Amino acid sequence: MDLRVAHLYPDVMNIYGDRGNVIALRYRCESRGIGFSLTEVNIGDSFDPAAFDLVLIGGGQDREQRRIADDLARRGEGIRMAIEDGLPALVVCGGFQLFGRRYIDQAGEIIPGIGVFDLETRHPGPVADRCIGDVVIETAEGEVVGFENHGGRTYLAPGQAPFGKVRYGAGNNNGDRTEGARHKNAIGTYLHGSLLPKNPALADALIVAGLRRRYGPGVGLEPLEDTAETGAHANAVRITEKRRS
Ligand code: GLN
Repeated sequence: MDLRVAHLYPDVMNIYGDRGNVIALRYRCESRGIGFSLTEVNIGDSFDPAAFDLVLIGGGQDREQRRIADDLARRGEGIRMAIEDGLPALVVCGGFQLFGRRYIDQAGEIIPGIGVFDLETRHPGPVADRCIGDVVIETAEGEVVGFENHGGRTYLAPGQAPFGKVRYGAGNNNGDRTEGARHKNAIGTYLHGSLLPKNPALADALIVAGLRRRYGPGVGLEPLEDTAETGAHANAVRITEKRRS
């Protein structure tokens, strides 16, 4: 078996260590004898989402989001169709915002999103506080820990499922305790980190979803020796509890 991963705009959308998600996925595949192939998709490159098992995009500030917005919009229909067909995706912060319906940035400019998630993000303007700090959320994949740094506030439409429920942190809008969004196997989140190295259960959930879609529902993953990963996770939760309470 092998996992074919597409990383969208790795040069432009890569803050707070989002590239570490790719490293964690590669490690968790190769340690199990599962092949891993990575395709970096930059502005103007050809890209067929149907030829992949997992899609990733990281975060970027408003300026970077404006740089990729037109290119992403051209790919929107293909990405939406693949996600409807069960393609797993992990989209972080600025990438997450552009997977919603639109982002109104701090200058009040509308950046259209590709509408994978039914949500809108509004930045309250340059004088508003940013949502910054360590975050712990409860998700279907268990407790997830990460780091958020965003000005935009995200509001889910009725019926749009969040990724998780906030235990510590601001989450989508520092109000309704939702964090991120989920549609089929696509997960959007504000959590950087890197996220996957210290949330191995989430990394494995993405891998197994990608492999099952391609090779069938019988695919399972053998456990890995995860002392360092679970230790990093527990440590991050402990630090968050201390800083946030
Ligand atoms: N530009 C967005 C905001 O500040 C996203 C920032 C990010 O990706 N960290 O809301």
